[in-house]
Amino acid sequence: MRWSFRLLTLFGIRIEVHVTFLLLVAGLALLQSKTTPVWLTVSELVLLFACVLLHELGHALAARRYGIQTREIILLPIGGVARLERMPEKPLQEVVVALAGPGVNLVLATAVAAGLAAQGISAEQALLKSDQGVLEFLLMANLAMLLFNLIPAFPMDGGRVLRALLAMTMPFARATRIAAHVGQGLALLFAAAGIFILRSPMLVFVALFVFLAAGEERALVQSRASLSGLPVSAAMVTAFMSVETRHELQHAVDLMLAGDQHEFPVLEGGRYLGMLGRNALIQALQKEGPNAPVGRIVRLDVEPLEASWPLERALQVMRAGRHSAMPVVMRGQLVGLLTLENVSELLMVQEARQRHAGVA
Ligand SMILES: [Zn+2]
Repeated sequence: MRWSFRLLTLFGIRIEVHVTFLLLVAGLALLQSKTTPVWLTVSELVLLFACVLLHELGHALAARRYGIQTREIILLPIGGVARLERMPEKPLQEVVVALAGPGVNLVLATAVAAGLAAQGISAEQALLKSDQGVLEFLLMANLAMLLFNLIPAFPMDGGRVLRALLAMTMPFARATRIAAHVGQGLALLFAAAGIFILRSPMLVFVALFVFLAAGEERALVQSRASLSGLPVSAAMVTAFMSVETRHELQHAVDLMLAGDQHEFPVLEGGRYLGMLGRNALIQALQKEGPNAPVGRIVRLDVEPLEASWPLERALQVMRAGRHSAMPVVMRGQLVGLLTLENVSELLMVQEARQRHAGVA
């Protein structure tokens, strides 16, 4: 997510603010200069997002206890996101990490309520008062965040807690599927309430967001689960074409036009040397002409994957290097090509198989 810039660094975690959040602050500042009362003043907004930041830090610091680092925390107009480098694998750890955020709001709300009580104002009085001060606002904001995040629907923390609790007694993918269905069911109820009872477009919008996020989480976990345990060799293309360093560029162009392969492994004396991609080929064709040897434009920095590697590890390498196709070797011999296109086909096949077997 670009369009965000660093605000500060806390506990070694980059805290970023998204530009849309600044637009929101600027918009409120403009509105505030008018005499009409505004639903939220700029200072309240800043306090609110300080609470959001503390909530996200709660998640990040709890994850750190399990050796999981947080890449960054981003503040968005709709809330915050703590980007953990990975999710905890043990269900109990996921429960702790998920509850740490709302836990911060509970502590804050309790502290504010205590502060109000010292002034002789009870929590109920504070929430019902018409002329609310900063403390009353903070109490309300933290209670709202606490309750909202405990709704058992992805991407809210409650959804993660539900999934982790289910995962204690069943496989992770199945737990995710059930938790996602619960989240989507709740989202539909919220949307219906937003349309028919409360007439609140905001609630409908939030419900739609929750519905989509729950579906996304399910798809992500599902695809990871159906690929887990498979080796690279199960997903690689074995009917592929390669070129030799001594071949002319025209030969590679002919191969590219004759089939649907965009990336070619380049061999030298029968052994894998590097990769040749479509863009490099087109550029070289223009600069060097069709008779130049392939060896002059081969990419040498693409290390081949091993056929026996777990597919998940190979996909990580592909994503990290932004490769759409990578060579696969077995005992030093080039035996296949792993392409993102083929992996997604394998995913479809696996899903169809599971549906047929009645597992899904
Ligand atoms: Zn949270």
